[in-house]
Amino acid sequence: MNEAEINLIDENGLRVDGRRLDELRPIKMEVGVLDKADGSAYIEQGKNRIIAAVYGPREAHPKHIALADRAVIKCRYHMAPFSVEERKSPAPSRRELELSKVTREALEASVMSEVYPRTSIDIFIEILQSDGGSRCAGITAASLALADAGVPLKEIVAACAVCKIDGKIALDPSDIEDKQGDADLPIAFMSKAGTITLLQMDGSLTEDEFNQALDMGIAACRKINDLQVEALKRKYISVKEQAEERHESQEATA
Ligand code: ADP
Repeated sequence: MNEAEINLIDENGLRVDGRRLDELRPIKMEVGVLDKADGSAYIEQGKNRIIAAVYGPREAHPKHIALADRAVIKCRYHMAPFSVEERKSPAPSRRELELSKVTREALEASVMSEVYPRTSIDIFIEILQSDGGSRCAGITAASLALADAGVPLKEIVAACAVCKIDGKIALDPSDIEDKQGDADLPIAFMSKAGTITLLQMDGSLTEDEFNQALDMGIAACRKINDLQVEALKRKYISVKEQAEERHESQEATA
């Protein structure tokens, strides 16, 4: 531990923000937050603040990128200049290019892209404030935005990272745990199929630690999936209520 580093687990087994090792940060999700995009979602996970927007399926541009047998899926993960303590250049960094690629792959596994050949589906993930685990929270939000856009999905993808801090496996690392921890394992998962669509590892774990981390991450993805389903239901209930109100007011004025 170098001088600037602090203990990440206290004598009671609690973490810097008071969480237990297997506890998620507080999560809030909202679907359909943007009018102009075909689908959108907002997520807060800890201090992460992330918006995801989806356009499409729409005609592929430029035309030569179109595929005859399925939709082309494009993804941009981008951190706003004000999302981190020191202003970040708005130009895409190597890290953002990598995260755009792995996010696209994590979501592509869930999209029934063969239903819309010759089209493109564009996914934008904008990190407004970053607090560790932003690629996972971005995937969780983007999957909701895809569902909101009406893109046919096999199922929704949920994602969560697991880390190793002070020699212990812990769920959903915050920024300081991400930076000071010994390992970081982001996981994206489709609950019904039991399919892992993203698995990365930064740092090193023993085989036992890896298996413990994977089990913990998958259980968390299942919980996050329940929250996603609730967020989608809230959106559809509010759309239904608005339609009923419109219908009632039309009847009253007729
Ligand atoms: P993830 O956000 O998926 O955990 P990383 O492990 O690469 O991705 O990053 C961990 C955290 O480091 C980010 O959530 C963010 O808070 C911070 N971070 C990433 N890039 C920068 C940057 N350019 N400047 C400052 N902090 C950054």
